[in-house]
Amino acid sequence: MSDKTCVFCRIIAGEIPAQKVYEDSELIAFRDINPVAPVHILVVPRRHIPRLTDCGENDAPLLGRLQLASSAIAKGQGLEWFRTVYNCGEGAGQSVWHIHLHLLGGRRLTWPPG
Ligand code: AMP
Repeated sequence: MSDKTCVFCRIIAGEIPAQKVYEDSELIAFRDINPVAPVHILVVPRRHIPRLTDCGENDAPLLGRLQLASSAIAKGQGLEWFRTVYNCGEGAGQSVWHIHLHLLGGRRLTWPPG
């Protein structure tokens, strides 16, 4: 199911351009339009799921594939180190209500994040 008002659903549908780096039947990965690191890629399920907390037991394989895809992409990008993160909810910085894993790399990453 897709949401016509969702920017990521529109990217998936090909209605909005994106710099894709990977896609398969379940996932798509593209460069963030406003990168916060030299490599900033979003790994996104094709299915519209608004928040990580909307996922259930049945979504465990999908979430596993998102995580595995992110590390394969990181490897493909030649990243020696990287970070993957989900923002869940407004207070955590979520601004697009379609789950996505941020893959960040290409610079030293500090901890804790702000
Ligand atoms: P979040 O704030 O965790 O929900 O992350 C949403 C991310 O989507 C932000 O880092 C935005 O820069 C990014 N973003 C929003 N619109 C687009 C777009 N059209 N193409 C690529 N990235 C986008």
